[in-house]
Amino acid sequence: MGKMKLSTKILIGLILGIVVGFVVSPDFANTFIKPLGTLFIRLIKMVIVPLVFASLVVGASSVGDIKKLGRMGGKTVGYYLVTTAIAVIIGLFLGNVLQPGAGLQLPVDATYAGKEAPNVINVLLEIVPDNPLNALVSGSILQIIFFAILVGIGITLVGEKGNPVRSFFDGFAEIMYKITGFVMEIAPYGVFGLIAPVVAAHGLDVLAPLAMVILAVYIGCIFHAVVVYSTAVKYFAKMSPITFFKGIFPAQVIAFSTCSSAGTLPATIQCVEENLGVSKDVASFVLPLGATINMDGTALYQGICALFVAQVYGLDLSLGQQMTVVLTATLASIGAAGVPGAGLIMLTMVLTSVGLPLDGVALVAGIDRILDMARTTVNITGDASAAVVVAATEGDLNIPVVDNLSA
Ligand code: ASP
Repeated sequence: MGKMKLSTKILIGLILGIVVGFVVSPDFANTFIKPLGTLFIRLIKMVIVPLVFASLVVGASSVGDIKKLGRMGGKTVGYYLVTTAIAVIIGLFLGNVLQPGAGLQLPVDATYAGKEAPNVINVLLEIVPDNPLNALVSGSILQIIFFAILVGIGITLVGEKGNPVRSFFDGFAEIMYKITGFVMEIAPYGVFGLIAPVVAAHGLDVLAPLAMVILAVYIGCIFHAVVVYSTAVKYFAKMSPITFFKGIFPAQVIAFSTCSSAGTLPATIQCVEENLGVSKDVASFVLPLGATINMDGTALYQGICALFVAQVYGLDLSLGQQMTVVLTATLASIGAAGVPGAGLIMLTMVLTSVGLPLDGVALVAGIDRILDMARTTVNITGDASAAVVVAATEGDLNIPVVDNLSA
């Protein structure tokens, strides 16, 4: 495997994992194969907090001018909101056309303890850490981002005295990138170890009754990625969509197998900088934020699931209610953490907003992992496209001329 490209190796890991998953028993997969995946996840999680903090401090301090930082923030959040709303609309459209819940009779006695939807004001207040060290220790990414940006701005404003601190974090961030590089080398094995137990646990029998939901979510995710992101990178950044998708592919496979945007973050940062030519300043600002608040795949899935649940219960969603879904699914996806299954919990909020029975969440819970794989992949692809677009409009993009994916 020596000279093979990393993305090819990861793809082989994925395919082998799927094949082996079909052959072995769930017990065998959990005992002997899963530890490989767990090891990979632990290694990748190990770098997230120090990487995000150090690179964001450096990113914010090297923007050098506060106005530019504000402009980048505005563009990033604007792009995130618009693409997320488009994603829900695609989800609703597919839910209406494909009717995934039509004719489906499932036992609806399952009880699912839905979580109460979080209060918007509290969510916003919680972005400000009352103790930044606590935020670092508990890995609250949004709080870490907030504090890191302020430290970066502080460094800029302090001037000369702030320089040693900046150099320290600069060096520290470089070291974290190096470690990410090592961890990525074992990604093919990690992906294998993550995917085989999932396939072993969800044989084809489990998937069949809900096949239409799975199909609708996968079609929607592929459509959104291919149409919306291709258009965005082509139009705003003059980047070929092929270059974009090739460059982000290793991170996509990791998202697909880990089901966590936050866990994929180091890989996303690496792909975007090394393969897509986005500057460190932009990547370290746009991507951690995106991994936390930008979830197009999750929003799309919530649109489809809302219609699915309505159809299963024989209820009709009016156009007005569907508009409500666009709004709540956009907010719910912002509120969902970048961890496995978060979107399912936030689905409660969407169903509540239009008065659908919360038992509906139980219907999709059984196949949620399969749906999570697709939506997480879209989530991180959306973040990467934002990084490319923001970098291009800020003049911080060096589109790679040669295909240098053999990292
Ligand atoms: N697993 C998703 C993510 O990390 C969130 C979700 O469950 O939708 O991006």
